[in-house]
Amino acid sequence: MQYVSTRGQAPVLNFEQAMLTGLARDGGLYLPETIPVMAPAEIGALAGLSYEETAFRVMRPFVGDAFTDHEFTAIIARAYRAFGHAARAPLVQLGPNHFLLELFHGPTLAFKDFAMQLIGQLFQAALERSGQRVTIVGATSGDTGSAAIEAFRGLDNVDVFILFPHGRVSEVQRRQMTTPTEDNVHALAVDGDFDDCQAAVKDMFNDFAFRDSVGLAGVNSINWARVLAQVVYYFSAAVSLGAPGRVVDFTVPTGNFGDIFAGYIAKRMGLPVGQLVVATNQNDILHRALGTGGYVKQGVVPSISPSMDIQVSSNFERALFEAYERDGKAVAQLMEELKTQGGFHISQGALEKLGESFASGRASEEETSATIRAVHAATGEILCPHSAVGVRVAEAHLRGPVPMVTLATAHPAKFPDAVEAATGLRPPLPARLADLYERDERVSRVANDLGAIEALIKERRRA
Ligand SMILES: *Cc1c(COP(=O)(O)O)cnc(C)c1O
Repeated sequence: MQYVSTRGQAPVLNFEQAMLTGLARDGGLYLPETIPVMAPAEIGALAGLSYEETAFRVMRPFVGDAFTDHEFTAIIARAYRAFGHAARAPLVQLGPNHFLLELFHGPTLAFKDFAMQLIGQLFQAALERSGQRVTIVGATSGDTGSAAIEAFRGLDNVDVFILFPHGRVSEVQRRQMTTPTEDNVHALAVDGDFDDCQAAVKDMFNDFAFRDSVGLAGVNSINWARVLAQVVYYFSAAVSLGAPGRVVDFTVPTGNFGDIFAGYIAKRMGLPVGQLVVATNQNDILHRALGTGGYVKQGVVPSISPSMDIQVSSNFERALFEAYERDGKAVAQLMEELKTQGGFHISQGALEKLGESFASGRASEEETSATIRAVHAATGEILCPHSAVGVRVAEAHLRGPVPMVTLATAHPAKFPDAVEAATGLRPPLPARLADLYERDERVSRVANDLGAIEALIKERRRA
């Protein structure tokens, strides 16, 4: 299996190279040259399998000969063993034909663990084999960083630096990044917002001298291996609800478009996915873009669902690449307009293409709180604010007999203030994290300045 860049100008890579590289050298994102299709009988045969067995069958064709069957099976087993639920991604029912896919039973209580735990094991296996060392740099609006630090802490061949916007992540998120004691992990609090952190990481990847001198590797949601890991739970959920004999809709609380793009890949692989509903908070660039064709940046307005406080949605580039029928030049042009003019207009043809797979909606802050309250009163389920954005938008997209699955992206205890404000209840952390508030923190405050951030990384990484 070969991987190509969305901007058409970077070398074609295999799975392992695309995974270790992250961002392509032309600034684009990697995608498989062709998307493998599973026949209905193969999808039907997933019924009753464990999450790990499903993961193996769904991801195997994308991995090529980077790992043997035996190695890949062991990697998957290690990735999901620290999850706090035997089903890994259990479904619960919220109402008639509306289901919640709980993706928050991993070690850091957000869906990011599904991809990050797998990628940690994949990196470890690949780097042990080659003896190579890498420096992982990532930007986070909160959950990616904690998941990355958890997945890579203590690994011999990896140093990890996570940039997060100072003062704009929840206390649980911050503590999950600042309390690990291993000296290969570093939490950097940047004086800026998430888009500044993400831009700094992109600039580091485009600074080839720096990139090559520290062996930069990326694990942000642009990393193809992360998208791939997330394809699996679309299959496990849809098959539980009757696929391939039944169409299933999904609603996904969306920021960087990684999670929902995984649903699009599942659909292209043959899973009978109906609508893929993009759910945004008040930072609704994706909802506006899908409705009008105008992808225009506005300032980020902090919300109670901070992991979705994003205006530059990096994985949307992959959806554009498909909507423009894989025309890398056209995508590069749009991205240039975004950089220089703060936005671009999606062509009519491409917008229609996007509309064949994606619908969208937004939830205001009040609607999000009201949904947390209403769902708790009706079902006893406590939603995190991101999941509540999803449920609210999903309710507006229910279609008679078609089951709707809303992805629950984080555990409510990660965002206790918003949940308490809505319900009066303060959700407790699971027992395995109960002492988080007592652990010592270690963090470096840094200016929103590329030179300062690069200097800090050079100084701290182990040679
Ligand atoms: C990252 C995150 C999202 C957004 O996911 P994307 O893949 O960036 O669209 C939503 N909810 C939570 C809790 C997250 O951590």
